[in-house]
Amino acid sequence: MPTDTPPTGNDALLRQHGLHVTAQRLAVLRAVAGRPHGTADDIDKIVRAELGAISRQAVYDALGTLTDKGVLRRIQPAGSPARYEDRVGDNHHHLICRACSRMVDVDCAVGYTPCLTAADDSAYEIDEAEVIYWGRCPECVASAAAASGG
Ligand SMILES: [Zn+2]
Ligand SMILES: [Zn+2]
Repeated sequence: MPTDTPPTGNDALLRQHGLHVTAQRLAVLRAVAGRPHGTADDIDKIVRAELGAISRQAVYDALGTLTDKGVLRRIQPAGSPARYEDRVGDNHHHLICRACSRMVDVDCAVGYTPCLTAADDSAYEIDEAEVIYWGRCPECVASAAAASGG
């Protein structure tokens, strides 16, 4: 049996970002992968169901560390709790339903950052333009139509 296989997956991912591999961080990564755009609360529930002996604060700390290191991406929609995802580095955007808060990915039409040109950049070196499209998802449009259609 070969015992020198290089680490793959999330172990390697953490090491690449200079992070120690811990059960908490691995569980948080798995939870985010399984529930893209989940809130910290969502992730906390999943991780604690899996690990049991982990505090809410430890889950939040792990999320913060993984986000700071660029392993996870945090999206902070106005008036909504932050969401987390593991699809990083591709400059994709998001659609959010105003009715049910469901969030889905939408690929950037331009592809590179920043994908919007500021009319006046005030001499800032801009590296990101965060785009969130707000509206209603197909299910909510359909149920609204059904409700008003009689
Ligand atoms: Zn909806
Ligand atoms: Zn996304």
